[in-house]
Amino acid sequence: MTRSKELGLSRLYLKNDTMNPTNSFKDRVVSVAISWARAHGFETIGCASTGNLANAVAAYSARAGLESFVFIPADLEPAKISSTSVFGPNLIAVRGNYDQVNRLCSQLVESYPWAFCNINVRPFYAEGSKTLDFETAEQLGWQVPDEVIIPIASGCQFVKHHRAWGELLDLGLAEGDQRPALTGAQALGCAPVYNAWREGTDQVMPVKPDTIAKSIAIGNPSDGTYVIRMARETGGVVEAVSEQEIVDSIKLLARTEGIFTETAGGVTIGVLAKLARAGRWKGDETIVAYVTGHGLKTADAVAEPDGTAHRFEIDPTLKSFREVVEV
Ligand SMILES: *Cc1c(COP(=O)(O)O)cnc(C)c1O
Repeated sequence: MTRSKELGLSRLYLKNDTMNPTNSFKDRVVSVAISWARAHGFETIGCASTGNLANAVAAYSARAGLESFVFIPADLEPAKISSTSVFGPNLIAVRGNYDQVNRLCSQLVESYPWAFCNINVRPFYAEGSKTLDFETAEQLGWQVPDEVIIPIASGCQFVKHHRAWGELLDLGLAEGDQRPALTGAQALGCAPVYNAWREGTDQVMPVKPDTIAKSIAIGNPSDGTYVIRMARETGGVVEAVSEQEIVDSIKLLARTEGIFTETAGGVTIGVLAKLARAGRWKGDETIVAYVTGHGLKTADAVAEPDGTAHRFEIDPTLKSFREVVEV
């Protein structure tokens, strides 16, 4: 955990999931799903994914000594493929988009005795999300924070965070009389939950994703309705940010905290910054932002020359150096 005063928040904490074994939040959920599957006799693990889930499933299957089948759209970027294939899964490149890949896996689950992390063993996968809250509570000395900022893809983890804070309170493990406000973060380019929130309804209408925050770009989120209800019940909100705000927020986090996050983290920090600048908080509240993936996964997002970086091009001579840098 780390903190920053850049946004006028004296008690801001960042839960840094960029440094997990495959550098995203997915390590938490997949490790629980595969542990359960192995304990219950499954010998093969499967998933449909365009990135983070594929990485985690391939790595944890290797570690567990189980066979894995990772289904991906055939046109996936080579960089994403190599960081999965290195773990030795059966990589099935499907000529189709993610939705088609996912549909195929839903059909396969009927006839193959495999544990698909995001399908038949999803309840156990989902449980893994709660370790984020358990660790956060422990690291805060078992105090319940005032608000937690959570990125929303399917909404699966958001719902489990609600459950986890409830369990911590019910068991008397955390001190406080209520859950933190749970606030959801989306990219405007894929904001079905935010759209419904803004319109004051909990009926989530599907959208066609168009955003650089691909790891959370689910146009038809299965748990969207619950996210809206839980945000409202806990006093949280659902907010969304533009593509430019995502990029700016990745840079803000890197510049102020030395943490390089992927675009999903840019969405979370973007929403945090937007709400802070809009005066949502007095400044002394305990706020936690869940930063869920590493920046090297989406390095292209910040590949443009950066006005804030101090770049100088020189000849390999002392003279040339002294000409551009005055100390
Ligand atoms: C999967 C994922 C999430 C959360 O997704 P949900 O489907 O809402 O649980 C958040 N951030 C990153 C980087 C992810 O890969």
